[in-house]
Amino acid sequence: QAKKVSPGHYQFVTAALNRQVEAARIMEQRLRQALEQRELCLVYQPLLNVDSGRVEGVEALLRWPQPEGTPIPPETFLPVAESIHLIHDLGHWVLREAFQQQVVWQQAGLSSMPISVNISTRQFYHPKFIDELTEICRETAADPQLLTLQMSQATLLENRDVSLQLLDKLKALGVKLVMDDFGLGCASLCELGDLPLDGLSINRVLVQRLHIAQSSPAILDTIIHLGRALALQVTAVGIESASDLSFIRERDCDWAQGYYLGEPMSGAEFVRWYQQRL
Ligand code: C2E
Repeated sequence: QAKKVSPGHYQFVTAALNRQVEAARIMEQRLRQALEQRELCLVYQPLLNVDSGRVEGVEALLRWPQPEGTPIPPETFLPVAESIHLIHDLGHWVLREAFQQQVVWQQAGLSSMPISVNISTRQFYHPKFIDELTEICRETAADPQLLTLQMSQATLLENRDVSLQLLDKLKALGVKLVMDDFGLGCASLCELGDLPLDGLSINRVLVQRLHIAQSSPAILDTIIHLGRALALQVTAVGIESASDLSFIRERDCDWAQGYYLGEPMSGAEFVRWYQQRL
């Protein structure tokens, strides 16, 4: 319920609405502070090469730990970061942190571990994105060939022409490009074929539906075949059991990620985890 205080202007009077506005303001403020004071961190989830049976990469995932209680999930605070234009700085920090972690791992004996990093829409279309990425690679001496950028369908298709130009430039840098969350959104097959991508990552909801919807195996089969026909590396996300893994292995899916294979962990935990598996 809103009260009209002058033509065209409304003042919120409902306590609930006021609380929402206040909560959003506090979240924005705390997020800015968290970034400045380095309270955010990255965790790394293993990516299994299904064919070799080895972990040959990781996905970097943002976490916002809370002094009391569970971390705030990225899907809650990333939209806030986008809305207050903090995503560019945040994304910049993520890339730098991921590259630095790669160097630390190399020093710990893990040879050249490929890393996938998520890129959000505003970050992708920011005019300085590619220059800054090039600069971070130079500063950290990171090898762009070991970097995969994951963008959602919505990001890649928001401005198709600009997106094509950006993807071409990124390819020229040597980074790999993956369409994330494939299967739930609206990417048409032509668009998928037109973009210079290296891979697609199947939304985990589709894998989780294997156990509940009769149509799911056929849908997953079709996506894996489509990826293969377009020479894309396909990743199945959300592998939570041996039967999920067998299912995608039988279908020659290239990569698998899921709690059954390894949960997201800190950089130091990943070294121990990885070395124990050898
Ligand atoms: P995503 O790129 O699809 O990442 C996979 C998500 O699935 C992660 O959630 C991961 O923890 C979760 N996951 C993986 N395997 C399983 C499984 O077996 N079961 C279940 N239930 N979940 C599984 P998370 O970390 O909460 O991230 C959610 C989304 O937030 C990511 O989806 C990505 O789109 C976004 N995100 C995370 N970190 C970043 C970042 O640094 N930058 C940007 N722009 N987005 C990020």
